[in-house]
Amino acid sequence: MDNGGALHVVMFPWLAMGHLIPFLELSKRLAQKGHRVSFVSTPRNIKRLPQIPPHLSPLINFVSLPLPHVDTLPENAEATIDISTQKLESLKEAFDGLEAPLTAFLQNSNPNWIIYDYAAYWLPVVADKLGVPCVFFGVFNAAVLAFMGPPSVLLGEEKAWSTLEDLTVAPKWIPFPSSVVMRLHELLKIVKGIGEKKSNMPETHRFGLSIRGSDFVALRSCVEFEPEWINLLHDLYKKTVIPIGLLPPLVQDVEEEGDSKWVLIKEWLDKQGRESIVYVALGSEATLSREELNELALGLEKSKLPFFWVLRKPAGSIEVESEMLPKGFEDRTSGRGIVYTGWAPQVRTLAHSSVGGFLTHCGWNSVIEGLGFGRALVLLPVMNDQGLNARFLEEKKVGLEIPRNERDGSFTSDSVAESVRVVMVEKEGEPFRTKAKEMKEVFGDRNRDDRYIDGFLRYLEEHRCPDGSSS
Ligand code: UDP
Repeated sequence: MDNGGALHVVMFPWLAMGHLIPFLELSKRLAQKGHRVSFVSTPRNIKRLPQIPPHLSPLINFVSLPLPHVDTLPENAEATIDISTQKLESLKEAFDGLEAPLTAFLQNSNPNWIIYDYAAYWLPVVADKLGVPCVFFGVFNAAVLAFMGPPSVLLGEEKAWSTLEDLTVAPKWIPFPSSVVMRLHELLKIVKGIGEKKSNMPETHRFGLSIRGSDFVALRSCVEFEPEWINLLHDLYKKTVIPIGLLPPLVQDVEEEGDSKWVLIKEWLDKQGRESIVYVALGSEATLSREELNELALGLEKSKLPFFWVLRKPAGSIEVESEMLPKGFEDRTSGRGIVYTGWAPQVRTLAHSSVGGFLTHCGWNSVIEGLGFGRALVLLPVMNDQGLNARFLEEKKVGLEIPRNERDGSFTSDSVAESVRVVMVEKEGEPFRTKAKEMKEVFGDRNRDDRYIDGFLRYLEEHRCPDGSSS
């Protein structure tokens, strides 16, 4: 492209790995097209991010803004990965304190566009004052956003429900092309999960104000996967909604020379049969209760299939991971399964040919990464949008959800073992394996994604802030 017309775009994601990663992927796609990105986050989060390919680094400038001190936030906590969900409001309070330093940065750098996340509800007002257009980038899929409703519902101006039970039937604000619902145990968890600090800005309001204040909405999605939901969002939001593709990370981007941990994992994976392993991972935030962990472990054991399990302990826990497992589990599964602790090389693992299935908590990143490699999905949603994701995926016959007790959400080792076996090896699970392979065409189609990014860029270029720096 003509570099004289290159854009300068500021990215400002929420402080969660599931948000930082897609914002970084989008940054890479824009840099690939010759545009300049300022990626704003906190120092520790910037260090945590996956490596940028060297040819793109000159175009991506990482801007570190230290998180303001908040008494109730543990020291050094800069992301959801560092805290228990009970501390989420404290992290949000600190995040909101970034308004002043971010405003100063925007004033000095004079960008053409700001791309921001749901938590920064105050950013559209700042952008408006500075005369810089802004895009709300929804890192969720269109189905989940549509289910949450339009800004008027999110902001409580339009009453769509009165009791939690109302939310266990389909939302009423618009005819829905689905009968997907949230389960009562998920809603009760959300209510219980509201942390120890009272929220000064509820999550729903952050979403509502972020969507309403944006010039247009960009979605991490594509019409090849969910055309019905993208169309519905146009109607709900009454503004332009642009799907910008699924942005799966490139494996070659995450390959790191001489990474000793990966060398050992790869050695083990290389010895396993083609598509024989189930990769088990619940993302960066979700953790299971002791009972759930027990059932999951025993379920993997009963499945008799090889597994690679990424086990995370709750933030702040001093327990050793192996002590969280049922007695004798590691001995009994030795040679057949690996329990991995720490930050796992998820994309590289999913890309390996010995992985056939993915037992996932249904975070949208994980779903995209799993389907991008055609891995069949066993669905074990834990919190937030994950239950809805699981049901939308099941509705599209893309995965099988592990049955849970409707009211308390418990599940058994037998149901884990059975679901894993069905998806991985049993004859009745053949449709899931076939569908996952078909989905690889949709989720792993880089040329299609490239066209989406071109469409997005055309929009950014046509509506760019004329005063922005274009050097
Ligand atoms: N991830 C990883 N290693 C880990 C845990 C997570 O690489 O040990 C990455 C994963 O590949 C994905 C992101 O972190 O890109 C998690 O996002 P997702 O939406 O799946 O779940 P969340 O963490 O937001 O619940």
